[in-house]
Amino acid sequence: FSVQLLIELQRIGSTTIYGNLNKIILATKRWSLLDTRLYIKVILEHLQLKDLTSTICLELKSIYHCLWWFDDKNYCGFRIWSNTKGQIDDNIDNNDEEETIFDWNMIVYLPRVVQDYFETIMIGFARSIYDRLRDEYKEATSITQTNLPVKVLEYCRGLFTDELYQQLMSVTNQIERKLTKSDFDSTLPTPLSSTSPALEFVKSVCCLLFLLHDMHDDVMNLRRDLLKLLKLSEYSEMTTTNLSSLTSFVVPQLVCSNCNHYRDIDLYREINSTIDKDSDDEQYRQYQYTCNQCHTPYDQTVIEQYLINHLQTLVLENVLQDATCNKCHFVRNVYYKIYCDCGELYQNLHTTALLHNTCIILTQIASKHQMAALQQQIQFLNRLNHWNE
Ligand SMILES: [Zn+2]
Ligand SMILES: [Zn+2]
Repeated sequence: FSVQLLIELQRIGSTTIYGNLNKIILATKRWSLLDTRLYIKVILEHLQLKDLTSTICLELKSIYHCLWWFDDKNYCGFRIWSNTKGQIDDNIDNNDEEETIFDWNMIVYLPRVVQDYFETIMIGFARSIYDRLRDEYKEATSITQTNLPVKVLEYCRGLFTDELYQQLMSVTNQIERKLTKSDFDSTLPTPLSSTSPALEFVKSVCCLLFLLHDMHDDVMNLRRDLLKLLKLSEYSEMTTTNLSSLTSFVVPQLVCSNCNHYRDIDLYREINSTIDKDSDDEQYRQYQYTCNQCHTPYDQTVIEQYLINHLQTLVLENVLQDATCNKCHFVRNVYYKIYCDCGELYQNLHTTALLHNTCIILTQIASKHQMAALQQQIQFLNRLNHWNE
């Protein structure tokens, strides 16, 4: 159904940046607030007329300038209109009061001071580009392009080489000298053994800067130099895998029993807690996941059952995977054989790393939410694989 909607949007020529069952983000190619709102209004009216999409209830939520979009958990931009406060000054087209939105979830596990560095530097950079762009467009009445104008791009390049480059080099150097692995938040069960705050900082910074497609080469150079500072090769594996992908656990489309609203919920990152009876004691802290529309707690047994099933699937995949011979590269054809015909030991195609990491994350979730059955399963797996030793 929602796919139909996206196809229809594409057919009438709009550029979709992101869409899920709850929200759609469009690049409107327009700068002025008035133009944008008209444009959206036309689209919404068009969708109402179509048979397939007329039953979908859509409304304009907010309008951004200069949105840097990585994914739905990592983005920043300048919100110039939002329907919660926009009702009052409906007819005024002023962009003086934009709001800086900075939601960059991949840095949550970094030490606080590193997060602050990241935020200050990156917002500063984005803000400079935005201000320059606003000057550029001040006189223009209608703009129909999404790429940066040449002048702004030049300015952006200059800013990058003259300021940002130096700034990032010195900050990275400082982080590397002052912070070690032990400065990571210890309540986060990330496999942090092979990384450092400085490396994670560099990875997150580059992730954001790579969103400037026109400057890909410059960012590549910056990345190489920053990694050189940390004495790492730009090609080594630990510089490319992003830690943040391990620090989340998403249950797709969980339905609220009260209001039927459904959404993807990140069990790992979403932490809601209430403390019982005026006591600050950690022991009485209760964690629960709640619907973000009506705030009813989700049925925890449903979540637990989902997690157990997920774990079972991973175990099954692990057990049923192919084994190959290292020497002649044939896949094992008889299930119980340990040695290949050539005399070599068969090797599993995949390691148990994914299963192990999943167990680490689920342990944290299970103990916080007192999911006893899940905890038992994980303990069993830990014993079986000698992961505790
Ligand atoms: Zn609900
Ligand atoms: Zn063989």
